[in-house]
Amino acid sequence: MTYQQLLTNYRDKHGKLVEPRQGFDSLHKNLWLAYSIGVKRGYYDVGTYAAKPGDHSWGDRHGQPGTALAFDIRRKGWLGRFGWGYRNARKLARFYWEHHQALNIDYVIVGRELISRSKPYWHPLTTGDTSHDWHLHVSGVA
Ligand SMILES: [Zn+2]
Repeated sequence: MTYQQLLTNYRDKHGKLVEPRQGFDSLHKNLWLAYSIGVKRGYYDVGTYAAKPGDHSWGDRHGQPGTALAFDIRRKGWLGRFGWGYRNARKLARFYWEHHQALNIDYVIVGRELISRSKPYWHPLTTGDTSHDWHLHVSGVA
C-alpha cells in the first residue's frame, strides 16, 4: 500500500490525524500518520520532541526546539517482555515494518530488538537500553 492508500484507510475509519501531546510541530510530518495509527490502536504518547541528542531532537537549531524524527508510544498493560502487552506491541511493530516505505519509517525498536533500513531483519539492540521493554520507538526518514 502507498502512503495515500494508508491515509485514505485511516481517514475513512478515524477521521483526523492525532496531534502529538507536544504539538504537531514536535514531530516531523512524515511520521504523523504512523503516529496516529499507533494511537488509534490504543497506544499513548510517551514523547516526540526531547532536548537530547538523537532522533528525538532532530531538527534542533541553535538551541531552539526543533522537531523530532521519532516517536515513543506505549500501551496500558504492557509491562515488560511478556504477556499480551508485549505480543501486541510486537504486532504493531511488524505492521509498521510491513509498511515502512509508505510510512517513512527508518527503524523500529521493541523489546531488545530492532529492524532498520540498513539491517532489514530483527536483530539485537546492543546499546544496553532496556526501556523498550515497555515502549515502542519509531524513527522516520525526512
Ligand atoms: Zn524513542
